[in-house]
Amino acid sequence: MHDIPALLRRLGIDPVGVNPGCYDGEFHTDSSLPPIVVHSPRDGAVLARVSHATKEDYERCVSAGLVAFERWKMCPAPQRGEVVRQIGDELRKAKEDLGALVTFEAGKVVTEGLGEVQEMIDMADFAVGLSRQLYGLVIQSERPRHRMIEQWHPIGTVGVISAFNFPVAVWSWNAFLAGICGDVVVWKPSERTPLTALAVCRIVDRVLERTGWRGVFNCAIGDRHTVGEPMVADHRVPLVSATGSTSMGRQIGPRIAARLGRSLLELGGNNAVIVMDDADLRLALTAVAFGAVGTAGQRCTTTRRLFLQKGIAADFTRRLVAAYGKIPVGDPAEPGTMCGPLIDRGAVETFRRTIDAIRHAGGDVLCGGRVIDRPGNYVEPTIVKAPLGFACSKEEVFAPILYVFDVASLDEAIHHQNDVPQGLSSAIFTNSVRASEQFLSAVGSDCGIANVNIGTSGAEIGGAFGGEKETGGGREAGSDVWKTYMRRQTNTINWGTDLPLAQGVKFSID
Ligand code: NAD
Repeated sequence: MHDIPALLRRLGIDPVGVNPGCYDGEFHTDSSLPPIVVHSPRDGAVLARVSHATKEDYERCVSAGLVAFERWKMCPAPQRGEVVRQIGDELRKAKEDLGALVTFEAGKVVTEGLGEVQEMIDMADFAVGLSRQLYGLVIQSERPRHRMIEQWHPIGTVGVISAFNFPVAVWSWNAFLAGICGDVVVWKPSERTPLTALAVCRIVDRVLERTGWRGVFNCAIGDRHTVGEPMVADHRVPLVSATGSTSMGRQIGPRIAARLGRSLLELGGNNAVIVMDDADLRLALTAVAFGAVGTAGQRCTTTRRLFLQKGIAADFTRRLVAAYGKIPVGDPAEPGTMCGPLIDRGAVETFRRTIDAIRHAGGDVLCGGRVIDRPGNYVEPTIVKAPLGFACSKEEVFAPILYVFDVASLDEAIHHQNDVPQGLSSAIFTNSVRASEQFLSAVGSDCGIANVNIGTSGAEIGGAFGGEKETGGGREAGSDVWKTYMRRQTNTINWGTDLPLAQGVKFSID
């Protein structure tokens, strides 16, 4: 038996009363809107209640951030890194509990819940290292006794809008980089996962209180109306980093652009694996199964399409269907479960409707396809055999549905892999250098992520994460993406006694 009330209390959450929905250095409980009632996707039970943040709560967060920014931007970056390091340490201490809460609230299986917290810890480490490496360039000037440099300054307040399926890790991707860059953060978590957000605020507050930096990280747990849209329209928020559906990105992208703000969009994916005749099929089988079924198909990087070269297609499909039959589906809190529930009843309905549409359009459901009749939001992992170009397969549906296609050649596989509106993650399984290099080349995958002999899902901190086309073009969590969170300034310094102009232009008033 899991003692969920005790777990919640350890994380600073009241299992009985209404919890605060706003954190601006202090915790606020506003009672003007009905509270958000959090049901666990594993059995539908009520976990706790959180007050629904209002527009006034959003204002509190922005105001606290603006005040903190005046000091934070002048705090040396390595000292900002020290604050993030301490948050990472607190996360290490809370890993078991916070990971368990991810399981109960978001329905991720045990190792994925823990993995989400580990990703935050990894992100903290990465950001701490970067806090001593916010390098600019020294550029050669064409003028004598002149020097040009490029330096990076904080941009101000970063708004972070996050999705339910990575309820805490995505915040850390943004907040830790923004933080070491000298920015302050206002977080709008998904209203479907408010408890993990609140638990993170409790953890962060311990560090901000003792280091004197309350106001740097703020959070308003509301919906798009009370928090999301005010943030998107807010000139005081120069950068909005938003993770969620492509439809959300379509709504907010133009509005941020209209005020000439900056946006970092991490939107829907429709990821594919190509398996060539010469592939190591054992590797490919595990990678495809994990990619398609892990997180119950609710990752932006979930494998949704599988292109099998004709020589191995029939055998691989048979082995995959057999493997699906052995995947334990059920309570995500039970060790051994590999596929947990969908997030809510709405997601189950979407699954049901999609399966009907697939059958109607002529897709062949090889296994799965049914809603599981038990408390909670469980569906069967599903494999669909479909003809190339199958219309249903071009949309992202957040459920464990995998479309399988036969292809004759690598060219055909790449063509169809790229022939969808999204461009997040992709992978090829092959032992051929030629095939893998073609896949990674400019005539290969058009995705932000392209892997060889590993699956589409399970990115690690350090590489820039994100995708092209309708995935939004944003990059997070690695490489040089810290630059997105800063403003670049070019300085030309004249240490001579003349004032030569560039390009030989002459101007004299002597
Ligand atoms: P969603 O679009 O329903 O919601 C995401 C967030 O956006 C929530 O906080 C929501 O309240 C907010 N939001 C929605 N409309 C808004 C608006 N008009 N203005 C301001 N805020 C608004 O997405 P979801 O169902 O929570 O998450 C699943 C989606 O997220 C999938 O499409 C998945 O692929 C995508 N996702 C992408 C990445 C990535 O890195 N590319 C990562 C995780 C999830």
